[in-house]
Amino acid sequence: MRFDSVPMPPTVEVRPRDPRGYPVPAITPWHDDQPQFALTDYDRSANCARQRLCSVCDTLMPRGPVWRVVGGSESAAIGEALAAGRPYRNLAPTLEGPGHRACMLYASMVCPYLARPNARRGLDARSPDDMTAHVVRGAVRGTLGAVVGFADYEFAVTSSQVLFRFVDVVEFLPHDTADAHLDALRAELDQAR
Ligand SMILES: [Zn+2]
Repeated sequence: MRFDSVPMPPTVEVRPRDPRGYPVPAITPWHDDQPQFALTDYDRSANCARQRLCSVCDTLMPRGPVWRVVGGSESAAIGEALAAGRPYRNLAPTLEGPGHRACMLYASMVCPYLARPNARRGLDARSPDDMTAHVVRGAVRGTLGAVVGFADYEFAVTSSQVLFRFVDVVEFLPHDTADAHLDALRAELDQAR
């Protein structure tokens, strides 16, 4: 969706913008005054991890749950685990840090680089059998991905990467369409006001 057709959390509204007006996430590197939306900046990401800052808006995340946007295959795996009453634990680390609920709802609808399977393929340690993945995807909602709340996150800053792991799903909001979370975002922003 166009970024200006989605209500913006106040902390996102004050982010630096690219020439089109897109708010630039906290972890996005800049090169020659141009944000590199497809990339994650090591120092910015490490800072967010250590200071418990939202990877979208760069402000503090209170103690308690954190959110992130997951792609279609992870959404299917979470949906399947929840439907079966099994706990879901993502053992595969990801480069994508957590954020506020409102920020991730916003990002899920606006950011073209989130929820793209190829964005995380390189780090995906699981190797699901394609056939199974296909069947699972067809059986649960959330074809495009999901906004997922986790009880907390763990991180590791290595010499070259900042890796995140998320523990205990506390909220699962799958999406099949780009505008699926508009109502949830509006409600979240109303509540914050
Ligand atoms: Zn935020």
